[in-house]
Amino acid sequence: MIHVRLPDGATRALTPASTAADLASAISPSLAKRTVAAVVDGQMADLNTPLPDGAAVELLPREDARALELIRHDLAHVLAEAVQTLWPGTKTAIGPAIAHGFYYDFERDTPFTPEDLPVIEKKMREIIAARRPFTREVWSPDAARAHFEAAGETWKLELLDAIPEGEPVTIYRQGDWLDLCRGPHMRHTGDVGGAFKLTHVAGAYWRGDATNPMLSRIYGVAFADKVALDAHLTMLTEAEKRDHRRLGREMDLFHFEEVAPGSVFWHPRGWRLFQTLIGYMRTRQEEAGYVEVNSPDIMDRALWETSGHWQNYRANMFLAQTEDDRDYALKPMNCPGHMLIYGQGTKSYRDLPLKLAEFGKVHRYEPSGALHGLLRVRSFTQDDAHIYCTPEQLTEECLKVNDLVLSIYRDFGFDDVRIKLSTRPESRIGSDESWDRSEDALSTALETAGHAYTVFEGEGAFYGPKLEYVLRDAIGRDWQCGTLQVDFNLPERFGSTYVAPSGEKLPPVMLHRALFGSLERFTGILIEHHAGHLPLWLAPVQVVVATITGAADHWAADVAETLREAGLRVETDLRNEKIGYKVREHALKKVPVQIALGTREADEQTVTLRRHGAPETQTMPLSEAVTALVRDAKAHGGA
Ligand SMILES: [Zn+2]
Ligand SMILES: [Zn+2]
Repeated sequence: MIHVRLPDGATRALTPASTAADLASAISPSLAKRTVAAVVDGQMADLNTPLPDGAAVELLPREDARALELIRHDLAHVLAEAVQTLWPGTKTAIGPAIAHGFYYDFERDTPFTPEDLPVIEKKMREIIAARRPFTREVWSPDAARAHFEAAGETWKLELLDAIPEGEPVTIYRQGDWLDLCRGPHMRHTGDVGGAFKLTHVAGAYWRGDATNPMLSRIYGVAFADKVALDAHLTMLTEAEKRDHRRLGREMDLFHFEEVAPGSVFWHPRGWRLFQTLIGYMRTRQEEAGYVEVNSPDIMDRALWETSGHWQNYRANMFLAQTEDDRDYALKPMNCPGHMLIYGQGTKSYRDLPLKLAEFGKVHRYEPSGALHGLLRVRSFTQDDAHIYCTPEQLTEECLKVNDLVLSIYRDFGFDDVRIKLSTRPESRIGSDESWDRSEDALSTALETAGHAYTVFEGEGAFYGPKLEYVLRDAIGRDWQCGTLQVDFNLPERFGSTYVAPSGEKLPPVMLHRALFGSLERFTGILIEHHAGHLPLWLAPVQVVVATITGAADHWAADVAETLREAGLRVETDLRNEKIGYKVREHALKKVPVQIALGTREADEQTVTLRRHGAPETQTMPLSEAVTALVRDAKAHGGA
């Protein structure tokens, strides 16, 4: 007999070579009916794999969140079978489960089109209805090679070659169809259920490498039930409506050009929004004791060798040579420049903490396929700062950064913030004492603030632990923005010191922190979060004063002037167009307040106000409107 342990601590005796399916049946027939997979010693496993003696076994029902990945992976197999049934001779490459769904890459003379998807989906539902059992087989490498060669599956031959010698070659079969696969899978195709949808097709290079052939990829989304699927599909539709690239065009904020891939051309309105973000952050940082500096954009390779970027990060850097044969790089990060500023003059413990901030523009080479509007660019502005402090000050400084970042996110309408703490990795520099102190400083900051966080053991950088701040937006998407990182490495590389009270020269503790992260990316997130309807204090044009008749032109000029003097960002629209036309145009540009002026308003010195989201217009004396708008334009979130 063998013995296995269940999650509740109970043990069960089974005959040797029993499987998780046998275990489920031994416990109860109803459990066996519900169970689709198992977790054996912490690893997901098929129900049909024999259990080792002494194993810890958890039986998973289909509803368990961990089964979702199996649903998605099973669907990838079902998709591939459907495609090969419909178009025999199509070659299969790889088909993993991904976030929200799955995909499969195929090679075919004619790439798939969106019109093919309903046909494929129908075939998939037939395969699911047939409840074909998934069976695992171990083949010899030669047998596998012979099979895939005969089938013309050249990509599978490459995958076979990549399996290390001695590792088993496993095949998963569903009826007549089979695939090279590590598994695990559920019991049969019926377990995947019906909550899936094929969403789109895309070209994809084999192994993501542009020098390899282009394959045709079919994407699908899948969930455990229809409620979750529908929620996701609604989110996708909503995300499409909020796409910042389209809104950016409609609101006339920015554009991109092929001459500068991944670099933004900001239009007047977009640049005003950008500057509003900088102005806001500058004020908050000044209040928090930061000092702003500016470091050069292009610096000699010698600096990047000292910082280690030349050795470790060069593939992501834009390089430049000059006539005098010097090698330069555009800065991909601001830190090395700040190390040089810190290094000027002797620093004493009385100078610390020193908080150097820079709205530094950094350049990083990203593959062109990865670029995505403002969200993934090649040049961006960080709200970067480096805090130099003593070990004794570390906890308090982390606490201050944490308070600042959360208060700032609230001002922008992000109340749902998740925090990740990444701790010491296996290979690292720095003493265990300094890791203890730094990890403790970060966790204490979060606990003092009463904020929940998730620990990612071993995921910190080799040079220090970090916090990452993830914002959840209005439609439930997560965006990692802020970071707070402790660094034992750079002060050592640059030989940075401060004079301690004892007169001894010691290395300072260094913190890197960015709160927006990339201002370009944050702008994109902000546009999508608010669906373009930025709060009044952020809107690049806050008020448009539009006339209904030329007779109101003078009054319009007076109104605009009064609003401007009150500090509002105002434009006038005196064109000889119908007011309905003007209103629609400014609404498309998401101007939050429109003022319409006709003869009556001009005679009575009033204004008729139309606010975004308000059902009706309101007519009031100008002074009343000014007071209300000034009040609203100052209010942001909790501030
Ligand atoms: Zn598989
Ligand atoms: Zn830094």
